Amino acid sequence: MNREETFDKLFKKKGGIYNTPDPFFFSFFEFFDVHIDAMRKMYPKLPPIYCGLINSDFLNASAGKGDDCEYYIGFNTGLLKAVNDLFLKIAASKSRQEFDTKISLIREGDGVKYDDRSSISIFGINQEDHNIMVCHNTLINKFLLYHEVCHVLRGHIDFFKNNFNAIISEGDYEKDKSKVNIQQTLEMDADSFAVNCLIGQFREQTFSRKPYWTENCGDINSFMYHFGYSLNAFFKLFGYYESSSDIHHRLHHPIPSVRMSMILGNVSTIFEREKRPNAEVALNYLIQGGIKADEDLCEVSYMERTYKEFAELLSSTNNKAHVEGIMDNWKELRLKLLPYAYATLPLSE
Ligand SMILES: [Zn+2]
Repeated sequence: MNREETFDKLFKKKGGIYNTPDPFFFSFFEFFDVHIDAMRKMYPKLPPIYCGLINSDFLNASAGKGDDCEYYIGFNTGLLKAVNDLFLKIAASKSRQEFDTKISLIREGDGVKYDDRSSISIFGINQEDHNIMVCHNTLINKFLLYHEVCHVLRGHIDFFKNNFNAIISEGDYEKDKSKVNIQQTLEMDADSFAVNCLIGQFREQTFSRKPYWTENCGDINSFMYHFGYSLNAFFKLFGYYESSSDIHHRLHHPIPSVRMSMILGNVSTIFEREKRPNAEVALNYLIQGGIKADEDLCEVSYMERTYKEFAELLSSTNNKAHVEGIMDNWKELRLKLLPYAYATLPLSE
């Protein structure tokens, strides 16, 4: 079996390989390769990774080890198209375009599917909104890739395969509570790794040298604002905003506000370590970005604003307890991951 066949077999249940020549995805392959190679310069033990597309409209991505013992990452076509459409429609609604700016998402079973029949053209979006859209899109595509690479680098995939004989899938659900706790803790680690990579690139001024980037995200406060904005908008595509329902304990990823709380804690720790002056101000920009994403998402989706305000959710008691539970799990899980990891694992606080 060649790489493509192994990929197809590994992710068959998720939709199998997508190998239609679709111009929308052409640039992604180069994007994946360039950034994985760049990661390997920082983490020389990172094994080879084959990155490809899964033929599915569900918002999901998966990572696993194939029959050839190589690592594979698969992004669902629906996920990448939905991310693009999300920021495109936000840009279109800001440019006050007349076309339908609602993103079409369909809940099917426990998952969310993207329906691209409502997709719009980029024509008519003003330059300023267009540039911000590119920043948000790039931030999320990088975040997604680094998150998946972390599942390989820090031994999550091997641990999961050896203990549950399973691949890691982002948008799946569990009945087994102990497995959910493990999965959510691995996801926290992957989010935290991606956040560290992105902030590192900002600090070293290597995120991008393109003018759209320096104009919009060149200083720490603007970067934090757009970071909070794009992450919260992206997390919310998957739905489930409140922590009251039992879905909270079945999702592989915690609900968006818990995920954002952990990211906020993570960024705060990085700033303390860097002894960054005015860290509070920068963190507040991250929160303000998240709040604005809440508002803008209502303009471009059919999601009703029945959930609590972002800032309130962020500091809710339920959220805090959930975050503490995950951080406690990390202490134990970290030791179990050590034999599989290709890089050092962060110590718990
Ligand atoms: Zn993940």
